[in-house]
Formats: sequence, C-alpha cells, structure tokens
Amino acid sequence: MFEQAEQLLQSYFGYSSFRKGQEEAIRSVLAEKDTVCVMPTGGGKSICYQIPALVLPGTTIVISPLISLMKDQVDTLLQVGVPATYINSSITVQEANERMNDAMEGKYKLIYIAPERLESYDFIERLEGIEIPLVAVDEAHCISQWGHDFRPSYLHIQKLIDRLPNKPIVMALTATATPQVRADICKTLQIAEQNTIITGFARENLSFQVIKGQDRYAFLRNYVKKNEQEGGIIYAATRKVVDQLYEKLQKEGIAVGHYHAGMSDSDRHEEQEKFLQDETTVMVATSAFGMGIDKSNIRYCLHYQMPKNMESYYQEAGRAGRDGLDSECILLYSSQDVQVQRFLIDQSADERRIAGELEKLQSMIDYCHTESCLQSYILAYFGDSDGEDCGRCGNCTDSRSTVDVTREAQMVLSCIIRMGQRFGKTAVAQVLTGSKNKKIIELRFDKLPTYGILNEMSTKDASEFIEFLISQDLIGVEQGAYPTIFVTPAGKNVLLGKQMVHRKEIIEVVQVSTKDP
Ligand code: ADP
Repeated sequence: MFEQAEQLLQSYFGYSSFRKGQEEAIRSVLAEKDTVCVMPTGGGKSICYQIPALVLPGTTIVISPLISLMKDQVDTLLQVGVPATYINSSITVQEANERMNDAMEGKYKLIYIAPERLESYDFIERLEGIEIPLVAVDEAHCISQWGHDFRPSYLHIQKLIDRLPNKPIVMALTATATPQVRADICKTLQIAEQNTIITGFARENLSFQVIKGQDRYAFLRNYVKKNEQEGGIIYAATRKVVDQLYEKLQKEGIAVGHYHAGMSDSDRHEEQEKFLQDETTVMVATSAFGMGIDKSNIRYCLHYQMPKNMESYYQEAGRAGRDGLDSECILLYSSQDVQVQRFLIDQSADERRIAGELEKLQSMIDYCHTESCLQSYILAYFGDSDGEDCGRCGNCTDSRSTVDVTREAQMVLSCIIRMGQRFGKTAVAQVLTGSKNKKIIELRFDKLPTYGILNEMSTKDASEFIEFLISQDLIGVEQGAYPTIFVTPAGKNVLLGKQMVHRKEIIEVVQVSTKDP
C-alpha cells in the first residue's frame, strides 16, 4: 500500500519522495491507526491526509476551521485532478445541498467541511450515507481549551465519528506541540498517545542567537546597515515600537516598510506588496505580519523584543530562510520585555488561561537565558529532540570559556530557602546584594546570613544569574500575580554538593542603554 502512496505522490503532486514525518504519518494511517501528526507550519501536513485519501476507497472528510484556505486547497486538488469540494458558510444552501448529493454518489475523494456544520443533526445524518474511511482533523489544537484557538464546535467531531456506521480512521494534524494540547487532542478524539508523530521542527539553515545587555537600537541599526542588500523582518511587541523603529530606520535611508493591526487595510496591503516585490528590503512589524506570507528570500528575522511564547517565536523566526539558504534569527533580550509580556497576558487571556500562558512565557524567558544549544532547546520544547547540538547557534559558537559558579549558585539557593521560598526573583536578588530597600529591612532579611553575600554584583546581574539558574531548572517559578521562586530537586542536589554549575564567563559590555528604542 505504501508503494502505491509513493506513486500517487509522484503522479498527482510531482514530488519524488515523502519527507520523513510524512512517511511515518502515512504509514501509520494506512496501518489503520488513529494518528496525531504534529508538524510545523509549512512542514507538509496536507499531503499526510491527501495521499491516504487517494489510496483508501470512499471519501475522506477534512475538518478545517480556515474557510479562506479551504477553497485554495480544493482548487489545488482539482488542478492536479483530484475530485474534491468544500462545504462551509461561503456557499449557498442550495449549493451545499447539490454538493452533498454528489457526495452521496461518491463523486469526491475529499470533502472539506467547517466544524460548525457538525452542529447540525441533519448534516451528520447525511454523512452517514457516505463511505468515509478517514476523518482528518486539521488545526486539531482548536479542540483544546488550552490551545490558543479553542473552537467549541470541534467538540462535535467525536459525535460524528461515533455516528458513522463504519468507524473511520481518525487523523489529527496540528503545528502546536505543547504536551497539554497534545494530551487534550488524544483524549477528546480517543487516540492512543503513543500514536503521536512529531517531526520536522528542525530547520538546518537557521542559526539562532540571543543578544543581551546591549543597546538594542544601536545593534539593530548596525545589523540592518551591514545587511542592507538582504531582506529581513524585524518584529516588535507593540505598534508604538514598530512606528518608532520604522521612522528611525527610514531616517537612516533604509528601504523599510511597516505593518501592524492599527494601520488601514489598504496601507497594510500596500506595505506587504512592496516587501514581497523587494521594493522594500526590511519590514518592521508586530506579530500581525506574516500569516500566509510566503516570501522565500528572507535572510534574517530580528526580534527587537521577546515574544510571548516559543510557539510565536519559532513561527515568526521561521519565516527566514524559506529558500533553504543560511539565515539568521536573532532575539534582542531585555528584562523589561518580561514585564511587557506579563502585562499583555494579564490584559488579554481569559482567567483560566493565564497560568498556562505564564508558564509558556517562562519557557520563552528560559530560552533567552540558556547557555546550551538554542536549536536543541527549541526542538526539545516542541518534543522533536534529537539531542544533538546544532553547532551554528550563538551558544554553540560562543568561544568564551566556562567558569565554575557552583558556590555562587549555592548562595542563591540557600538565600531562597532562608527567605521561605515565598518571594520573587527581585527580592532575592536584593537580599543577595545587600539592598537597603525598605521592604527588605522591614522583613528583617538584612539579618539573614545570606544578606549581601553577593554584594560584588549589581542587583540586575544577580537577577540575571537567577534567570540563568531558572533556565537550568535549579530554581522553579510558581506563577501568579506575583511569581515566587523555589529550589527544585536538582537545585537541592547543588546545595548538597552533588551537582556542579557552570556558566560562560561574563564579559563586560561597553555600553548599556535601557531606553526604547
Ligand atoms: P502545512 O499544512 O504543514 O503548513 P503544507 O501542506 O501547506 O504545509 O505544505 C507546505 C509546502 O510543502 C507546500 O508548498 C507543499 O507543496 C510542499 N510539500 C509538501 N510535501 C512535500 C514533499 N514530500 N516534497 C516536496 N514538497 C512538499
């Protein structure tokens, strides 16, 4: 059966071979296993159900929330000679009826439907009259209340599956790989968790880098000027910063465009077109820019501010190097960004989701502080780890020597315990550096033996060191309105002298500016 799948790939789509994850996913489905397929955007998820749809008898149902993309998908299939259609709110009732009648006669290999359709009893009843070997659930994270895009109508999918006279194979596809969302997908669609295939998150041509403690604007300007001939995207967290950067770069004579949700549709469209046509080389934008943009020759993606989570970061950074040529993804970190993102989360997320969002933010902060391979960190986050260092990223190529900081780490850990593990990072840093802060004195922390024990450091550096220890999982963070820090089991091993801690030697950076931009 798999040989047939390979032939169909060649004859219909013109590709000579499957990508690794595709092969695994297709083999799993053809072995009649319900399967979860986690692949990044652009990884090639569509083929994973389209090819089985061609191999299996009957009509595959594809559930997709993206009405605008359904037509594109169907048009592409029709062009290569695969009979397919879609049923959603963009067509008339009469048209939908006609398509259903054709479907009952077995005229289609694939039918794309919007999940809302499943709320109609009549619609499900009509589907019962069709031979359906496979139900593909696209954007399957919409099923999870933990996902960023929960759709209540997705909860009707299982009802459809239960009602079909012959149990179909179920395939769920998504680019969102957090364990919680994956678990939710498996539970709701009754798929065994071991049937999850996660692949394709590695991007060999991207090199990642985190820059800390530098004047961000100076770095940005120099970088853009140095790469003036190259296409690049600069992401900032707020519209205000986008506008400011845009103006400043324009004054520098850079061919720059800008894009954010506060601009009119026509302005946005114009800016996007200019960038796609290479009339402008650099685009300064908020996260609103990039969805569905397929510009292949983007040589760098620079984050002027840290985004809210790794999913957003990787998706945005991943817009660089679509053509497979070497490209750079640089994140300019400043601890102020943490406050900005915390604020945005508090403002936007609904109550129940705040804790989850803060946890994701913490993983993003850890990325900025880890000294291990950044690519490995990303792959591990998405569950697609091969455990090997990339050898290209800012951390792999960092030639500074490492120093033993076990003693300093023990001081920090011991201070946290003496403070009752009830305070945040800043308070601990203040105690360690002997701050005269009123609250610290009131709480009598100046009487602790760990008070001022790291007074050769600034409070900011002590705070950074704590962030580093968090990224090493020696300190944990209890999320909440006021996050508090505690010592993890690994941290306890350090305190007991069973584990050492190493850190890259700190080299003083000449100029530090905290002004934005
Ligand atoms: P996703 O849905 O995961 O975002 P798509 O299914 O849209 O990704 O595929 C992304 C791109 O990769 C498309 O242009 C598709 O034609 C291409 N593609 C998919 N599979 C293969 C393959 N086996 N060989 C070459 N190109 C492929």
